[in-house]
Order: sequence, then C-alpha cells, then structure tokens
Amino acid sequence: MLVNIKINGKDYQADSSLTILKVCRRYHIHIPTLCYMFHEETNLEHKPASCRVCVVEVKGRRNLVPACATTVYEGMEVTTNSLKCMEYRKNVVELLLSNHPNDCVYCAKNNKCELQALAAELGIRRVHYHGELSQKNEYHNARGLLKNPAKCILCNRCTAVCREVQSIEAIVPTMRGFKTVISTPNKCITCGQCIQVCPTGALIQQDDTLLVEKALADKDKYVIVNTAPAVRVSLGDEFGLPAGTNVEKKMVTSLRELGFDKVFDTNFGADLTIMEEANEFIERYQKKENLPLITSCCPGWVKFIEQEYPDLLQYPSSCKSPTEMFGAICKSYFAEKNNIPKENIVVVSLMPCLAKKREAARSELSNDGYQNVDYVLTVKEYAELLKRRGIQLQDLPDSDFDHPLGESSGAGDIFANTGGVIEAVARTASKWLQGEVKDCNFTAVRGLSGVREASVKVSDDVTLNLCICSGLAGARKVLEEIRNGTSKYDAIEIMACPGGCVNGGGQPVRTDMDQIDVIKARQKGIYDIDKDKLIRISCDNEEIKALYDEYLIAPGSKKAHELLHTHFHDSSKA
Ligand code: SF4
Ligand code: SF4
Ligand code: SF4
Repeated sequence: MLVNIKINGKDYQADSSLTILKVCRRYHIHIPTLCYMFHEETNLEHKPASCRVCVVEVKGRRNLVPACATTVYEGMEVTTNSLKCMEYRKNVVELLLSNHPNDCVYCAKNNKCELQALAAELGIRRVHYHGELSQKNEYHNARGLLKNPAKCILCNRCTAVCREVQSIEAIVPTMRGFKTVISTPNKCITCGQCIQVCPTGALIQQDDTLLVEKALADKDKYVIVNTAPAVRVSLGDEFGLPAGTNVEKKMVTSLRELGFDKVFDTNFGADLTIMEEANEFIERYQKKENLPLITSCCPGWVKFIEQEYPDLLQYPSSCKSPTEMFGAICKSYFAEKNNIPKENIVVVSLMPCLAKKREAARSELSNDGYQNVDYVLTVKEYAELLKRRGIQLQDLPDSDFDHPLGESSGAGDIFANTGGVIEAVARTASKWLQGEVKDCNFTAVRGLSGVREASVKVSDDVTLNLCICSGLAGARKVLEEIRNGTSKYDAIEIMACPGGCVNGGGQPVRTDMDQIDVIKARQKGIYDIDKDKLIRISCDNEEIKALYDEYLIAPGSKKAHELLHTHFHDSSKA
C-alpha cells in the first residue's frame, strides 16, 4: 500500500512495507549506516539495528529511531539530518572509536574502512571517551583468514553472510557483553565472502606478497604466472578505472615489469579443463553413470561437498581446476620442451579467489613430488604489490600473453561468471556431438540468481537439463535433491561465491558503487571479451590441440589422468 510521508520537509510516496532507510535510499537521501547490510546479490537484508548510526527523528516520537528497522506509515514526518541526529551519531561513533585501536595508518583497510569514512563524514577530530580495549590488538590466522577482535565492531555482517549465503555458520558470535567476539572459523571453506562485507580491518586475508617477491628476486628460479579470467575485469578497480574495464593487456605488461619470466593465461587451463570435463561428461552421460556431473573447478565448493556431503563424492568431475591443470602442464610439458628443471620452476597464480590458497596446498594437487601451484596472489594482493613498486596500471602500454600456454577461447573467459563453466562444457560437447555449432551463446544458463535451471539443446537428439548454483545455500538444496534421489539434472555447475569468480573473496571491493552493479559490470566485461574472441569453443584452441598432439594424446588418456585429474576426500570429521 502506498503512503504519503514527509522527509526533511519534502513530500514523498512509498510502499508501507518499506523501512525509512530503504525509502531514503530509493530517493537518494543519505543516511549513514554501519551494521546494516543489503546484500543485493542474494537479497539478504541484515538489519540488527545494533550500531544506531542510522537514527532519525520521527515527529511525535520522543526518542530517535533506527531508520533500518522502522517502517513508514501514512503521514509520517521524518528528519534525517537534524542536529540531534548528527550529535547522536557522532557520539555512537566516538564510543566505537574509544574501543578501537585506531592504527589506521598501517591498517590493511586504511582508506577502505567504513568506520574511518564515517568518522570523517561526521567530522570527528578527537575522541572524548577513553578506556581499556576490550580485546588485544593482534591478528590470528585461521586458514587464510586473519581475524583481529580489537577491530571488530560486532556488526555481525560476516556471520550473516556465512550463515545465510553459504549456509555454513563457520563463524558465530561467542561470549557476552564486553567480552563478545566472533569465533574462530570452524568448517570454513575460505570463500572470503565474510572478509568482503566486513566494514573494518577486523577480518582480512592472509598476505603472501612477500613470498612471491622473494621468488622473483631469486636468480635460480624460473617464475611463471598465470592469470584467472576474472582478474582482467576487476584489477582496474584498484586503479580508479570504471568497473568491468578489461585491463588484460596492461596487466600482462605489469607482470613483465615485476619480473615474471613467463606470463601465461589461466584461460588456457580453463580450455584444457573443458576438454577433460566435456569428455568425462559425455562418457558418463552415454553410460548414464554418476549423473549429474558436478563441476569441480571451485575449491570453496569442493571443500563444502567434502565436509558436508561426503556421500556424494562420486558426482563432482575428477578434473583439477584450471590453474592446477595449468601448473601441472608448466612443470611437465613446458619444463621438458624448454629444458628447465622442474625444481626450478615456480608457478604463481593470480586469482580472484581466497580458496585457491588452500587448494594450492592440497597434497593430491602435485605431480612427482612438486605442487602444481606454488603461490596464489589475490587481485587485492597483486594491486598492493604494484602500488608498492610504484607501477600505475593505467599508464602502462599494452602487451600480449606468452605462448604456447597463452592462447585461449572465449569459453575460457566465461569461467569468470556464474554459468560460464557449464556453458563452456555445452559448447565443446555440442561441437563434438554434431561437428558444428551454429550459435555457441547458450544464454539460458546466464544470470545472477543463486539457483537457475536451463534446458540446453546441444545436438539434434540431445537436450541437457542443467542447473547452475552460486552461493552455497542454494547449492545445499540442490545437493539434498541428489541425496534423496529426486534430482532431474544431467549436469550442475556450483560456484561458492554469489555471481561466481567475478565476485570472488579476493576481489577488490569498491566503496563508490553498490556491489551488485560492480558484479554486473564485471559480468558484462567478460561476455564482451568472449563475444569478440576469434575462437569461442575450447576444442578449437590450436595450442590445446598441439598439447594433445605432442604430449597428452587425447582427452581422458592415461597421461591426461596423471596430470589433470584428482580425487576428493571425506573431511566431515576433520
Ligand atoms: S570464509 Fe566463507 S566459510 Fe569461512 S567464515 Fe567466511 S563466509 Fe564463512
Ligand atoms: S569481523 Fe567485521 S563483519 Fe564481523 S562482526 Fe566484526 S566488524 Fe562486523
Ligand atoms: S567462486 Fe571463484 S572465487 Fe569464489 S571460491 Fe569459487 S573459484 Fe574461488
């Protein structure tokens, strides 16, 4: 029902189901917030009304009310910017700062911290309250997540995302009152989504930049980097470029400037993944065995099924992820072709993903005693590395990837988006089944919602029932169907991060735009790259064909299995 209200003396109409905050946002009237979060990617509204920063005056009410938790009604008169509101907010933030280390100069969130920005917005120049800190100002490393309770403002955005978006509850508030803290993660899949929503430096990611700098400085090492598809449309965010800008060619130049011996594309590994995965899928489909096949390139999701659904481990594809396949090929085919001892090769992966750090350490992702990938840098870490060296990405000239592991199809690029892996499989399966693909845009699988279904015709007599999940709460429902025997799908793509790797846990967070618009811009950037690619189907990649001709023989061969496939473990009791 529409109601008439006044905000700051002006007339507006709004639906009576909406809160004051939502109405104000709709009409671009600014009310500061801190604990509030609208996670538009998943439609999760988190409004604990605990920080009281969004308080406003409502005519006829003696006390200020939180705008995030108060719905509008006919005749309501709201004031958002009175002196009383301003002073109350200032007081609230000063109290938070009195229990905060305030070491902004060297905090990882400096210039990206919402508490710091709020203090500046409210004109806080000194804190009038002083007392002891409730927690020690130190970071604890828990599986790649660095947690500092002294910087925590107990907004619970992180716990809400972990519980509602990922359905895990790896972190929860513990203890009471002054002693309350967010728990150490348990059963965490290292998706990093909690870090992305934390407004302060209380949750940050592990920093491996020094390890990579040491490898680059070691003259005996041959350091190879590979860059994930999603990185090229997000790295520009850290250098003030519009969201979704494709910086691939400048990124390649920047990596050479840092001293990498070879700059290759993980997209090559993505095309290789599709060769193996499409082959595996067709085999399983024709035998009607272990269907649905579930994609396995997301290590956050792989960890999830290992710990939550170990009875379903026959369903994920046995393919390693693209970067792990790439690393295995670097330390075998590439090393042998170029007479480089594999012990001297260091493979660095530049990723949108925090879970890749843990994936790289898995003992089964190795060959001949060497890990396939040595170090993983997220986009955030890489941007810091560049800034530390004084390299301004936007000022660099363009250059291209090295070869022979640098060629890729558009199918490799779309791995960055939710739905992209399954679309890439459909393209190659279609080519193999009917020899020609008239239109390789299987747009039915695209989108953003957490669970999507699509029927895709890949040949005259084969139509596949597909399902695409991003965010693990939706995936859980789909897995329950497999468990109880009601699943109707032939193949399922699961990515842990809502929207896929374009919204990965290692991606830059923009403070000037809504995250949903950032994700959409990155998705569009990826589809534009794919649209303009000369080759759009993985099996048409000439360098992939050469790799099979010279080395791997055929998809699914013994050699391919040794290097490119893996297995999974029951970790429900770990
Ligand atoms: S990284 Fe993911 S799984 Fe781990 S605590 Fe954060 S949101 Fe939960
Ligand atoms: S760790 Fe961050 S997101 Fe979680 S409660 Fe503390 S401040 Fe909020
Ligand atoms: S969706 Fe992408 S970024 Fe997120 S955990 Fe999976 S692989 Fe990593």
